[in-house]
Amino acid sequence: MGCADLHSHSTASDGALAPAALVALARSLGVTTLALTDHDTMDGVPEAVAAGRDAGVTVIPGVELSARVQSGSMHILGYFGDPQPAGLVERLRRFRELRVERAQEMVERLARLGAPVAWDDVERRAAGAIGRPHVAEALVAAGHAADRHDAFARYLADDGPAYVPSSSISPQQALEILAAGGGAPVLAHPFSLGLEGEALRGAVADLAQMGLRGIEVHRPDHGAIERAALLEIAQALDLVPTGGSDFHRPDGPVALGDTGSQPVPEETVSALRALR
Ligand code: AMP
Ligand code: FE
Ligand code: FE
Ligand code: ZN
Repeated sequence: MGCADLHSHSTASDGALAPAALVALARSLGVTTLALTDHDTMDGVPEAVAAGRDAGVTVIPGVELSARVQSGSMHILGYFGDPQPAGLVERLRRFRELRVERAQEMVERLARLGAPVAWDDVERRAAGAIGRPHVAEALVAAGHAADRHDAFARYLADDGPAYVPSSSISPQQALEILAAGGGAPVLAHPFSLGLEGEALRGAVADLAQMGLRGIEVHRPDHGAIERAALLEIAQALDLVPTGGSDFHRPDGPVALGDTGSQPVPEETVSALRALR
């Protein structure tokens, strides 16, 4: 029996592996169902689907959208049956244009903060949707940060001095955009909202009212307590409990296919299929 990983990134956004290389890694690790969920793009999906067909890995087309909330950003994943959902492609192109303007703004802020990086150096690190990790790499290369993590801690985190939001859409708009493309919207890394207990349950209940269909329960950064709390919320609100590694790079903190101490249940994949 293989395992499912429903959250991963490629060079189409801020991952280090090209879509085909990501699928090859999945195969070598026994991941038999992989969702590619790049930030604001599905440009990597056709290559991943083709590679999956050859390698015997089922690739689920996906995307990760950012919405603006008071604490910074909320990430909502969308899962699709079609690699290029009609209507969504144009929308995502616009989001990526805004990402370029936003990255330029962060570079300007960094200069004012005494940590200048060359725009060209940031830009050449991004093959697709540009994001904070590309700016972080440029900061490290310029000697302004010890490593990627340090670049976020000093400058780029949601409460950092160089942070500019990537998105100005509301959670409701993100949910509508995904649903309009025929997708099933799922809340990514729920604890990044900075809420717990009843406050988290209330926030997720509001999202469920607006069309949220699932919530990430199984992640390598969740322990048994987090998993249990999220599973209870999922059951109470009739949301599909999903999960994934949020893999970005082989030298990063998580391995592809790592969803914590429990695998993503088989029923999750069929439940997501039934939703979209
Ligand atoms: P963006 O979509 O451009 O705002 O960038 C968000 C991405 O930055 C996330 O998906 C992660 O890949 C990365 N990221 C966010 N926070 C951190 C952090 N503290 N350390 C390293 N990477 C981070
Ligand atoms: Fe990312
Ligand atoms: Fe995310
Ligand atoms: Zn992600």
